[in-house]
Amino acid sequence: MALKSYDVVVCGAGIAGIAGAITAARQGMKTALIEKQCLLGGLATSGLIYIYLALCDGYGNQVIYGFAEELLKRSVEYGPFDIPAKWGGPANNYSGITDKRYQCCFSPAGFTLTLDKMLAEAGVNLFLDTMITGAKTENDSIVSINAANVSGQFDISGKCFIDATGGAFVVQMAGGKIHRQENFITPWFIEMAEKHDFFHFTDDLHIQCEGAVSDKYKYSDCNSGRLVTDFIRKSWDLIRKRYDALPSTEKRKNYPVHLAAMPQLRKIGAIDALYMLDDSDHNIKFADSVGSVPDWRKPDTPWDTPYRSLVPRDVKNILCAGRCIGALHEAWEVYRVIPAAAMTGEAAGFAAAVAVNDNVTPADIDYSKLKKLLDRRNKKC
Ligand SMILES: Cc1cc2nc3c(=O)[nH]c(=O)nc-3n(C[C@H](O)[C@H](O)[C@H](O)COP(=O)(O)OP(=O)(O)OC[C@H]3O[C@@H](n4cnc5c(N)ncnc54)[C@H](O)[C@@H]3O)c2cc1C
Repeated sequence: MALKSYDVVVCGAGIAGIAGAITAARQGMKTALIEKQCLLGGLATSGLIYIYLALCDGYGNQVIYGFAEELLKRSVEYGPFDIPAKWGGPANNYSGITDKRYQCCFSPAGFTLTLDKMLAEAGVNLFLDTMITGAKTENDSIVSINAANVSGQFDISGKCFIDATGGAFVVQMAGGKIHRQENFITPWFIEMAEKHDFFHFTDDLHIQCEGAVSDKYKYSDCNSGRLVTDFIRKSWDLIRKRYDALPSTEKRKNYPVHLAAMPQLRKIGAIDALYMLDDSDHNIKFADSVGSVPDWRKPDTPWDTPYRSLVPRDVKNILCAGRCIGALHEAWEVYRVIPAAAMTGEAAGFAAAVAVNDNVTPADIDYSKLKKLLDRRNKKC
């Protein structure tokens, strides 16, 4: 099995992985990004999500800057949408959503095209259609990950890894402990129909949603491949029921156009981090903060993010980013969205570069060096 070597190996090209890989590459790291799908953006694109949620606290104050803002501004490039005028977009734009918050809509397909350009600009070595299948460890550190694609199986070694797989799959493969939580069956899909009640790209083409975040659609935590398969098939069943109920005259005008290419699970797995964010941490300030995250659901004070919530307790040379960082309950709910994925991804990318440059583990980096890099980015871009 041929071995490829990098400074930083980022696992998963969702929003968090892309943020981590671009940030590490911009710091001069030889960086690889491994993705099992043929799209970039993870759940945000393959899951047919279309709202880049808020960078502000809902009271008119911007909370997140840096890569998350850079990405939001670029997310509209190949689509009909704009940033709300109140937040610097053009007047009379097609924002798709209210301008009360600093958020915007994007085309999932268009966003993939932009993300690809950004990775190329940063010089990230991207592997698409490449599945990470294992991790080789020594003394609680990852020596290499095993990956498989059309070339066969091969090992990729790194000085530092970032697990941005959305489910902490690499930490799990390396023997780390994983926390899980329940989900809800709420499939989003693209529909052709004359009437729309959710969100539309054109008069006829729009995102539709079935199910709801309610006890009726509650689903156990997906801790096995069998359960994930069951979750996906139940989602399809809900969609089928929508069209089965239509009179035959309507069926030629109302039909599904595109289904999600990855399971629309909100929460898969979170690492057992050096610091587990939980409900009692709202309004706490941390000495090792890597940035704040607003509550996307309502105006509220933002949550501060300790660097330690990105660092697993049980695997040494890896950081986590995105929806698999150490956050539980309400905190997981707040952190599992796109802006938080971009923010934690950027922080992980900087931290990985500091760890590689100083030849230390992520747990042992000099936090003041990370803070200096973050402070530079936290100015409006
Ligand atoms: C129904 C629903 C609606 C949502 N709506 C919104 C919304 O409106 N706005 C918003 O901001 N957020 C929304 N979210 C949440 C948000 O889209 C995601 O949580 C966020 O994008 C997660 O980003 P991530 O990078 O952490 O993880 P992911 O997007 O999960 O990225 C992980 C990547 O890793 C890859 N990967 C995993 N395992 C492997 C492996 N073994 N080998 C190689 N690659 C691997 C995956 O293919 C994926 O590309 C919604 C989620 C759901 C389920």
